[in-house]
Amino acid sequence: MKLTDIKGIGQKRAEMLEDIGIVSLDAALSYFPVDYIDATNPVKVADLTDGERVSVSVEVIAEPSVFYKGKMSMVSVKCADESGKITLKWYNQPYRSKQIHLGDRLYATGRVIKNKGVSMANPLLCANGDSITPVYSICKGLSQTIIKQIIRLALDSQLIMESLPKELLDRYGLMSRKDAVRELHLPTTTSTLKKAQRRLQFEETLMYMLVVEHQKDARRRNNGIAFDTTGLLEKFLKRIPFTPTDAQLKVLKEVDKDMSQGSPMNRLIQGDVGSGKTLIAEYALTVAAANGYQGAFMAPTEILARQHYQTLTRLFGSTCCLLLGSQNATQRREVLQKLRSGTCFIVVGTHAILSETVVFEKLGVVITDEQHRFGVSQRAKLSKKGMHPDTLVMSATPIPRTLALILYGDLDLSVIDRLPPGRKEVKTRLIARGKRQDLYRYLHDEALKGNQSYVVCPLIEPTEQSEGVSAVEMYESLNQQYKGITVGLIHGRMKEQQKNDVMESFKKGEISVLVSTTVIEVGIDVENATNMVIESANRFGLATLHQLRGRVGRGKKQSYCFLLSDSTDVAQTERIQAMLSTSDGFELAERDMQLRGSGDILGLRQHGEKGLQTAWNNIPVEVLHSASQAASDILELPTAVNHDLVERAFESFYQNDQIVMN
Ligand code: ADP
Ligand code: MG
Repeated sequence: MKLTDIKGIGQKRAEMLEDIGIVSLDAALSYFPVDYIDATNPVKVADLTDGERVSVSVEVIAEPSVFYKGKMSMVSVKCADESGKITLKWYNQPYRSKQIHLGDRLYATGRVIKNKGVSMANPLLCANGDSITPVYSICKGLSQTIIKQIIRLALDSQLIMESLPKELLDRYGLMSRKDAVRELHLPTTTSTLKKAQRRLQFEETLMYMLVVEHQKDARRRNNGIAFDTTGLLEKFLKRIPFTPTDAQLKVLKEVDKDMSQGSPMNRLIQGDVGSGKTLIAEYALTVAAANGYQGAFMAPTEILARQHYQTLTRLFGSTCCLLLGSQNATQRREVLQKLRSGTCFIVVGTHAILSETVVFEKLGVVITDEQHRFGVSQRAKLSKKGMHPDTLVMSATPIPRTLALILYGDLDLSVIDRLPPGRKEVKTRLIARGKRQDLYRYLHDEALKGNQSYVVCPLIEPTEQSEGVSAVEMYESLNQQYKGITVGLIHGRMKEQQKNDVMESFKKGEISVLVSTTVIEVGIDVENATNMVIESANRFGLATLHQLRGRVGRGKKQSYCFLLSDSTDVAQTERIQAMLSTSDGFELAERDMQLRGSGDILGLRQHGEKGLQTAWNNIPVEVLHSASQAASDILELPTAVNHDLVERAFESFYQNDQIVMN
């Protein structure tokens, strides 16, 4: 049956469906909901916690009111349950005011905002209180109803085959695939839905692990480059401007050993922000260059790439090149030419390095910085530009060792667990709402003393979606308030060039207070910045908060991290408490894992080009362990069934090219 055979689906709709990956009834079955409205467990308004995503069951206590501001509209509906009042708000959905009436019972699901009263922005509504309603990701022209109709048809007509051996299902207590798929689309209870999710999370994790483990074996058998490292480390250490920490030295030796051996190096360097990972990269590049090989160093942003480039030109002079997406054709051609001919030994850049047109004369080592921003397949792409080059992956996102061993199973692990000497631990403070103005006056005084500050906001511009503080507003307000000091603004929607300019002026000290979004999260190094203010800190995840805090405390001065929150309950939120109680990234990661499973740092996430996405973030630790165990067992026992599984894992992994480390 073709989609166009379904009533209500013409050519045009079919194309829209195709765009989101629903090319057939069969494909529709794996178009899983991105969310659920679970009205079966409403929370009392009095018990709501800021930032939490929950459902409430409330009665409308006043007719909706609509406000307009320019082209934007907001519908505001006052509601209550027996324990308290809550306002539901919808932005740019004026029709809501016609659908909702005084006395209606609403089952609303959304994120709680506590800020002078309790509210939810753009909550999802569901029709009755005893159901769990799936929510699909849709685009314009399609509706939830249409998707649901197609999926219902698919569930009735398509055969859902079991994809895992029965023995595995029994051993790990997994739901059958058929039941799980059905349950995900037509959930019955919260607990069966959880079981269905677990089944698919298990399967996806297992497939991923099979590939990873298999690759690790294969790599060990590959012939790599055995670099001659004799005497190089001693020479290198003499050339750098400081004494390496013991932790750095240990890792330098590990890298030295890897590179001198015949099988390709594939190492993950984990080190907290500021632990000095760049030094390790510099050494690996030095080894390659000394042996007449080229090295590529890939960073996730242009700002970071430039920063590394500056550091590396000090070591490698003009044999070091920069390759960025924003360069013009002439600059680019020149770099490409130098790489092809081998006159450029070291190339630093962004994703631009992955482009087909980039050809190396003799690539010996590949380094990716802040690795969680790059997908596994991108890493592989870069390595293919050489004959089994050594690879080094650097991550500032501390991952609990157990988790790292599972998720980065194909990499050897090094940890830099000490910060360079002389660093003072960043002091973290929660700022009470009443003290906000004092804080901004303090930043002003600091600026006059020559100390720079970051102010990070969760949003770029004020938007309908959320009530957090926006960077643009903050920038304007500080600009008005501060006389005689320069305030800068940087965010993800600015052009690369603009961002670079702002970052450069901040580095040079021309800007005293830099208002930004999380674009500054990754890797930026400005020693003179000593204050980090995080607005609406309750809106950020623990990993992000920790990364942001790592932007200060990089020099010898005492640095501070100030957390502000737009919630009154914030003192209770576990994340903020964790931030206040420790500055050890690994400890934070451990807590984060206990709180949220794999979290959004490492969730195997399917970035379907065509929107085929499943929200498999936060894979519980238990599932990771079980799936990892299962993968090892399968690889150890080469039965026909197991062989098939591995084959299928490779197929799905490579075909889709979808699994990406977030
Ligand atoms: P990250 O691990 O976050 O990438 P970097 O490599 O950027 O850290 O190092 C942070 C800063 O610390 C840099 O300015 C670097 O020059 C400096 N640094 C690195 N190692 C040492 C050391 N052993 N002693 C003193 N300073 C160091
Ligand atoms: Mg770094």
